[in-house]
Amino acid sequence: MKKEILHHFYKKSYAEKIEALYRAEAISKEDYESLKNETLKLSPSVANQMIENYILNYEFPFGVAMNFVIDEKECLIPMVTEEPSVVAAASNAGKIIGQSGGFQTEMKKRLMIGQIALTDVLDVKVATKNIQENKEKIIDLANAAHPSILNYGGGAQRVEVRLVEADAKFDTPEFLVVHLIVDTGEAMGANIVNTMAEAVAPFIVELSGGSRLMNILSNYSTESIATARCIVHPKYLATKTMNGELVRDRIIEATQFALADTYRAVTHNKGIMNGIDAVLLATGNDWRAVEAGAHAYASKDGQYRSLSRWSKDNEGNLVGEMKLPLSIGSVGGTLSIHPSAQFAYRLLDQPSAAELSRILVAVGLAQNLAALRALVTEGIQKGHMSLQARSLAIRVGATGKNIERVATRLQNAEHMNSKTAQKILDDLSKNDL
Ligand code: NDP
Repeated sequence: MKKEILHHFYKKSYAEKIEALYRAEAISKEDYESLKNETLKLSPSVANQMIENYILNYEFPFGVAMNFVIDEKECLIPMVTEEPSVVAAASNAGKIIGQSGGFQTEMKKRLMIGQIALTDVLDVKVATKNIQENKEKIIDLANAAHPSILNYGGGAQRVEVRLVEADAKFDTPEFLVVHLIVDTGEAMGANIVNTMAEAVAPFIVELSGGSRLMNILSNYSTESIATARCIVHPKYLATKTMNGELVRDRIIEATQFALADTYRAVTHNKGIMNGIDAVLLATGNDWRAVEAGAHAYASKDGQYRSLSRWSKDNEGNLVGEMKLPLSIGSVGGTLSIHPSAQFAYRLLDQPSAAELSRILVAVGLAQNLAALRALVTEGIQKGHMSLQARSLAIRVGATGKNIERVATRLQNAEHMNSKTAQKILDDLSKNDL
């Protein structure tokens, strides 16, 4: 990629941006033409097959975050989001982290968990023993139910038995739960795991003597944890009014606050998910699955806490770390049919599911740094205001050049609201007559 061509990308017009992506060799000639001709959109005929009672395509903006260096590779991050500032903030933090060497990421394994939940098991010890003695047979049955996954190098790998004890406080009975742990190859694997879990359930019922309550994938993907880490020199954190060391220390304090206080932790993690969801959406992945898993992971010790950790190393650098369970895929699902999602993959240089998981955690950590840096320095509103002003201008009816004209005046107005925006637009229209 010829990075220098993308310099000041945000200042370019829409046509110049697409041109620059092509000239920088970030996209192919074919994608360049498709973007120009707007042919990467979901067609109504495909959309009609995706959901029931389809009547309309609901569009969101697709942007590109710049400056990311992940495992020494420069990458452009596709983001689909309706929230102003998300792409700019990611690019900004990408630059700060990139200047310090970028992200180091890791994913040791990527396995999905299917649950077969049993009730009314008369003798849990006997049932557990029977299931454990038949693990190989259960694995064979699972693989026979979805044999094609073996061709992709995956398949059912392990069987584990868990007892979820009865709890009088919630009036919940005892559950015996069998976990089927599956390598789903490049797929997110919901369909693969659900097919396998359904196939092994009758045998597990027979072995346990219990009743089957359900069999389904768990989105608490604790066997698919990706990690991202970055080390930032404080000089890159400095603002016009604060030196880098002070910003670093305040970011660490802000994280301590989000570790200690759930009210703060929820918003802290929402900021992280701003970035992750945008990439999930762009790549056609199931963001609800990742959201649910991430929030459960944030509560793993019994209290909902910050997903990220920011600390200081011996050299005085700011060190960021984040681990996240991720149930995502690089094949199947929406990706197999949505042209914009397929484009997002090409923009990312066709990552594997594990590589995409690592990118997602890095983006979340960058988004977090951008939010924390803004919060502990000038506050979050300043950065939001220019985009907010443009939204307000459009909301009151400004079009074309008037959007920028209204937005600029709005930012200097005493109150930035729709009434002021309307007045500015009316004044401009009168003057134009
Ligand atoms: P798909 O069934 O769409 O994709 C998996 C299929 O892709 C495989 O069965 C295989 O089919 C094919 N494939 C091609 N290449 C590979 C490869 N290298 N590795 C593995 N498979 C490959 O989707 P998933 O099973 O991944 O399920 C994801 C979808 O399920 C998402 O849309 C999600 O929203 C939805 N879902 C989620 C649930 C949850 O999260 N709890 C529950 C239910 C559904 P073949 O053998 O035919 O080539």
